[in-house]
Amino acid sequence: MTENKTNYFTEARQVIAGGVNSPVRAWQSVGGNPIFVSHARGSKIYDVAGKEYIDFVLSWGPMILGHVDPYVHDTICRTAGRGTSFGAPTEAETRIAQLISAAIPSMELVRMTSSGTEATMTAIRLARGYTGRNMILKFDGCYHGHADSLLVKAGSGVATLGIPGSPGIPSLLAEMTVSLPYNDINAVQKAVEHYGSQLAAIIVEPVAGNMGVVAPQKDFLAGLRKITAKHGILLIFDEVITGFRFTFGGYQNMIGIKPDITCLGKIIGGGLPVGALGGKKEIMESLAPTGGVYQAGTLSGNPLAMNAGLATLELLKTKADSYKELDTKTAKFCRDCEKIFSAAGIPVCINRFHSMFTLFFQTGPVHDFVSAQKSDTGLFARFFHGMIGRGIWLPPSQFEAGFISFAHTDADLDFTVQACAEALKSL
Ligand SMILES: *Cc1c(COP(=O)(O)O)cnc(C)c1O
Repeated sequence: MTENKTNYFTEARQVIAGGVNSPVRAWQSVGGNPIFVSHARGSKIYDVAGKEYIDFVLSWGPMILGHVDPYVHDTICRTAGRGTSFGAPTEAETRIAQLISAAIPSMELVRMTSSGTEATMTAIRLARGYTGRNMILKFDGCYHGHADSLLVKAGSGVATLGIPGSPGIPSLLAEMTVSLPYNDINAVQKAVEHYGSQLAAIIVEPVAGNMGVVAPQKDFLAGLRKITAKHGILLIFDEVITGFRFTFGGYQNMIGIKPDITCLGKIIGGGLPVGALGGKKEIMESLAPTGGVYQAGTLSGNPLAMNAGLATLELLKTKADSYKELDTKTAKFCRDCEKIFSAAGIPVCINRFHSMFTLFFQTGPVHDFVSAQKSDTGLFARFFHGMIGRGIWLPPSQFEAGFISFAHTDADLDFTVQACAEALKSL
């Protein structure tokens, strides 16, 4: 089996840059060769050698119903038989926009894209076009896709201008992005006093998932809403992960805060490539063809993606009451894991938010990117390999979120806790 894995990856590297089509899949931060997947069903994923794993990655969030849900699967098959792309409007696009807009009322008008990256990239362009301002404020450790303006890390401190997070991003552009510590509303206040009328938007993951799970502290998001409203800055909630993850709607529904623009992706595509942005009518009408801010896509609103998304959202709507169960189930799972770590005498800080979790290998607390980085990534890597060897598929990085789906059973979670106990013994 090991030999098999090596061959697949070796062959892939000969024709694909780095052997993968998205960097984290290469297992660089945990070492070893990535496992190639053959198929998946429910809570389980299977490698090319036929080994079964309990899947806590779930395609990085989208598969909240589990893999190959019968209704979603049937919908995709039926849709495919009618043609897979037309480059002209279809009814499914209206239906999914209606569902999304009803579930998340701040999204008065919606525009569909083919990825979360396109959604956030468009949101930024729209904010700049609408406000006539150029600067963007984001938070360290928040990931908003890989558009140039958003792939920027900045040292903390108000006066520090953005340093490109990647070669290939012109510093002239990176300087338009300010990045501040997550959960630090005082830093935001200072930055806004400094840059005020130059800021087009503040973009934030309302619950951060891309530095590991980090919840917003009390009043952080309300503070952002207040400051942005006062200074004519647009507030963008990047709900690409959190949209339909905790409730039938966005995280904004649960806290009663209305952003100006919301970005979605992942779950709303039901496992097909999708993104969406939406917001106030007046702002959204600045997009072409009604307005001058250009955005387009050959495969935007693609019938397969729209119908897979529609089927997923329809099912989630019927399960609206079961979200609570998902929350309870994950809470118990994380408590059980905590006990195992404590018994083994290994420090862990488990950040859980509903059905998302990260086991940080440190005592914690983890409330921003700097504190997340105090984790023992070497120990995490050994744990990851201990778990994958025992049939548990965790994210191959300390700084990612694990997810639980409606398909995960109590038996799956108990098995995982048991595997965790064994893995810790041989760390
Ligand atoms: C995944 C993600 C994105 C990017 O979505 P893609 O579909 O991968 O382009 C943007 N924002 C957040 C918060 C994400 O988790």
